[in-house]
This record gives sequence, C-alpha cells and structure tokens, in this order.
Amino acid sequence: MASVSVSSGLNKTLRQHYMSLPQRGLCQVTYVWVKGSGEGLRNKTRTLDREPQGLEDIPEWNIFAPTCEKDQSKSVMYLIPVRIFSDPFTLDPNKLALCEVLQYNRLPAETNLRSDCNKVMDKVKEHIPWFGMEQEYTLLGINGRPYGWPSNGFPAPQGPYDCSIGADRAYGRDIVECHYKACLYAGVKICGTNAESMPSQWEFQVGPCEGIEMGDHLWMARFLLHRVSEDFGVVASLDPKPMTGNWNGSGCHTNVSTKDMRAEGGLRYIEQAIEKLSTRHAEHIKVYDPHNGRDNMRRLTGLHETSSIHDFSAGVANRGASVRIPRQVGQEGRGYFEDRRPSANCDPYAVTAAIARTCFLDEEEE
Ligand code: ADP
Ligand code: MN
Ligand code: MN
Ligand code: MN
Repeated sequence: MASVSVSSGLNKTLRQHYMSLPQRGLCQVTYVWVKGSGEGLRNKTRTLDREPQGLEDIPEWNIFAPTCEKDQSKSVMYLIPVRIFSDPFTLDPNKLALCEVLQYNRLPAETNLRSDCNKVMDKVKEHIPWFGMEQEYTLLGINGRPYGWPSNGFPAPQGPYDCSIGADRAYGRDIVECHYKACLYAGVKICGTNAESMPSQWEFQVGPCEGIEMGDHLWMARFLLHRVSEDFGVVASLDPKPMTGNWNGSGCHTNVSTKDMRAEGGLRYIEQAIEKLSTRHAEHIKVYDPHNGRDNMRRLTGLHETSSIHDFSAGVANRGASVRIPRQVGQEGRGYFEDRRPSANCDPYAVTAAIARTCFLDEEEE
C-alpha cells in the first residue's frame, strides 16, 4: 500500500484557479465539533448571506446521529457555535465555527465535555487561570506506519531526532510549518513547535490561554493539524504510544498558573496546588485519556521521560515526575507548573476542568 493518499496526488495548480474565484459577498462557514467517540473531529460547511460579525450571526445547525432506534426524533443533535476562527484554507471572509453538541432535549451530548468545563472555569475565574498545552503527535502514512520509516525495518535509534534538522532526521516538516501558519491565520494561540524524540513525531504548543479558551484553541489546532495533514496525504495520530519498544510515546503536557502563582512569591501557591493534585492522582489519571487511563497505561511506564501511572511524584526540573516545576520557575520563585500526565489524545476540556476543580475550587463549592 502507498504511504500517501490518492487525493494528495490531485492537480493542486488546477485547484488554485477555483480557489481564487470571487464569491459574490457570500460567506462559507465550516462547523467543527468533537465527534461522538470523544476523540477526533467532524465538520460540515454551509453558505451564509454575509460575513458573521459575532457568534450571534452564526445560526445553530443540526446533525443526525442515530442513537435511538425506536424514537427517531431523539436522533437529532444540535450544533451550537461557541468560538469563531478565520478559515486558513478558503481564506477571509470564510470562517471556522467551533461548536458544542447538544442532544435532542438540549442537554449536553455525552462527549460534550466543554459544557461542564465552562461551568468550572466560571467558578474559578477570579484566580485568572492560564493554561498552556504541548500537543505531541506522530505523522503516519495511510498505511499506518510512521511517515518515512522503512517498510521493513526501523530508523536509527532515538537520540538525534529531538529538535533536529536534516533530511535524515526531521521527517515531514512541511506539515509542521504549514500547520503553524494555518493556526496563526485562524487566530489559534499557537506559541511554538519542535521536532520530537521519535522520527516523524512532532509537538506544537498552544497558550497561555485563560480558562475555557484552552480547550477551544487546542481542539481547533487539532482540526487544522488533521486538515493540513490531509492536504499532504498523511495522517496525524494522537495515539499515546504509536510504536512499542524503545520509542517515546506522545503526551499533552498541561502547564498551569493563576494570578497568585505568577506574582512575587507565587511558588507557595504552586506547591499548594501540587499538594492537592497528589491526593487525587487516580481520579486525574481516569480523565487524562478518553478511556479511563487505559491509553496512558501504554505510555506512563516510568521510562522515556514519563512517570509511572501508579504513583504521583513532583519535582523541580524533573522530567520523570508526574508534575514538574520548571527550573526557571524554581529559581524565580514564581510562574507555573507542568502536569506531564495527560495523554496526547486527551480531551483538553476534561483535563483543564479536573485541574481547576482539584486545585482552585474549595471543597464546598464542588
Ligand atoms: P517544555 O519545556 O515542557 O517542553 P514548552 O516550551 O514546550 O515546554 O511549553 C511550555 C508551555 O507552557 C506552552 O504551552 C506555554 O503556553 C505554557 N506557559 C508558559 N507560561 C505559562 C504560564 N504562566 N501559565 C500557564 N502556561 C504557561
Ligand atoms: Mn515541550
Ligand atoms: Mn515534548
Ligand atoms: Mn513539557
């Protein structure tokens, strides 16, 4: 089987002619939502009469998701636009609208974790919580093998690939660079990128984002990653351990601070938050991947810059701990901490909500 898709081989110069046609003042809006499994995304596009100036100009829409065989009326789901981005594929004035999904009775769909997250973020808003997430991923050919790996063997062992350059080390940089630009154009708060430890494995970072913004921007960054990868004919995998053996897995380190942590003497508040996290390790592991910790079992082994899934640990500059205080934060006595446990395929709404609940909500508020 070929490693790149058929549509990536279509004539892109020809495509350019159609893409540059004027669109008579009309506006294409692509609705994007988290699909029913809680992993991955779906999208569909419609025409609006004019460019929306805000969320109120983008109507609700629906999808038909057959869940109830007896009563078809219960199969309708509502798409509720919650954040607008510019569309980097069809360009201004066209938009991408991130949506929440509601059931027929207008209660949040099972995998709509944004709804709960939004409530928690509202309760803790006086702390002004900032998050930054580091999304690791692996590029795969459509044959399921890491992109550019020999089909009957392995590349040279890990060591030279992290933050690398060179044709023998950095596999698929076009995708990384195009994704970065697409995020900037869209208005996603991407703040950096680097090659990772395994060949074809990369990372981008989003943040700092306040409260609910974190999940919104990371999901849209993921949408853009999948869409850019599609253009190039390869697949971006968020599997936490795509290759067994002596190859790093993929996480989604989550960096956290509050206004107190960022101020002079903030280290005290960082330590308090970590103390609270230590008492709820098992609960957090359950929501740090979409399968109650089963995905992270493959990744959090205690090897390959991870901690063991069974124990909580914390330390300054320790990349083998569950939670790390960056060296500079330790030195300056203020800043943020990093929870290294979330899996690459985590739902950022679940992760940030769990952290906010544990660290910033008083018991009686929960
Ligand atoms: P690492 O050294 O762990 O690889 P990165 O540079 O990849 O770190 O990522 C750092 C992340 O921390 C980014 O997502 C950034 O937005 C986030 N970050 C930086 N400052 C803060 C802060 N004060 N509060 C929360 N997140 C922050
Ligand atoms: Mn990083
Ligand atoms: Mn990394
Ligand atoms: Mn990190």
